[in-house]
Amino acid sequence: MNNGIEFRAVTKRYGRDASAPLAVKGISFEVPAGTLTTILGPSGCGKTTTLRMIAGLESPTSGTILMGGRDVTTLGPGERNVSMMFQSYALFPHMDVVTNVAYGLRMSGVNKADARARAREALRGVGLVDFDERLPSELSGGQQQRVALARALVLEPAVLLFDEPLSNLDARLRREMREEIRSLQQRLGLTVAYVTHDQSEALAVSDQIIVMDHGVIAQRGSPATLYGSPESEFVAGFMGEAMVFPAMVEPGGRVSLGPLTLSTRHEMYSGVVKVAVRPEAWQIGAAVGIEAVVRKASYLGNCFEYTFDTPLGPVFAVSPDLSRPLAPGAETRLALGSHGVSVVPVASDATG
Ligand code: ATP
Repeated sequence: MNNGIEFRAVTKRYGRDASAPLAVKGISFEVPAGTLTTILGPSGCGKTTTLRMIAGLESPTSGTILMGGRDVTTLGPGERNVSMMFQSYALFPHMDVVTNVAYGLRMSGVNKADARARAREALRGVGLVDFDERLPSELSGGQQQRVALARALVLEPAVLLFDEPLSNLDARLRREMREEIRSLQQRLGLTVAYVTHDQSEALAVSDQIIVMDHGVIAQRGSPATLYGSPESEFVAGFMGEAMVFPAMVEPGGRVSLGPLTLSTRHEMYSGVVKVAVRPEAWQIGAAVGIEAVVRKASYLGNCFEYTFDTPLGPVFAVSPDLSRPLAPGAETRLALGSHGVSVVPVASDATG
């Protein structure tokens, strides 16, 4: 079955005041059936509003929403075959695990024996066997999260929605759960829309990432595209802490960043541009390059983080080389290779 989601020029304004700002400003995108799309962006950019419009919890001010090719714009949440898992995954505290998971099926009229059998199946699917009779308070945070996931999956929704599902978990569990969600999604061929403000989470789980900024889509594409070829300063900065420097593309495609010339030529833009440089792109201790003095050095276990004073201003760089640490005050040279360096146009604000 085609469970894909499509937004066509969807806008959303809260309340009746026509002069109030739009929370979502005419966005169009597709989530192809059987794939996982994350909606990524800073607080207030419209991620949750977009997800709630997929769920039918908010209705668009204008535009069209399709699911499986069917216009669902005016349908309520109960008519869309979607399940949503929230940040606070509140299980019923007085019900045991299997009753919690069976609850939605019971509400939709499935008899008790069938509902419990299907709930046990769903619990097995998320790796929770032999926990049926426990109360939520007798489970760890990660296990409770799995129960919530089973509760969403048991309804066999056409579309599964996640709103920052992992933000209450510690770093290790977050990593474990995101892998679990991704492998379940792939194994069951689920269509998933997933809201997060964490770019590393988005990179790890997605087929497609939609980066939003002030209610518009700043860029969408595969994780590799967004990380490797950001089209704007905003996306470059948001995906992986790139620093942005003013630069020039000369006729012939040579790119110069102050005294530094990039090793690759550029054809897409010309004249005054900006260059986004990821912290891992700097070659520290290069034979030729710009002069740099270490202002700050931090040891992070698997790498060093440096802040250098350079003719380009302060430069933030990361080095995996643990054998030759540089102390504050040390002088070195910095060069750039072709990886981790993107040319973006100057007028690339997505705030429009
Ligand atoms: P966060 O990561 O902080 O949850 P978000 O990207 O999910 O942010 P939204 O919650 O979609 O952003 O909010 C988008 C805009 O709409 C914000 O300016 C917000 O203040 C506004 N907004 C959200 N919900 C409502 C509401 N119920 N009534 C009025 N304005 C709202």
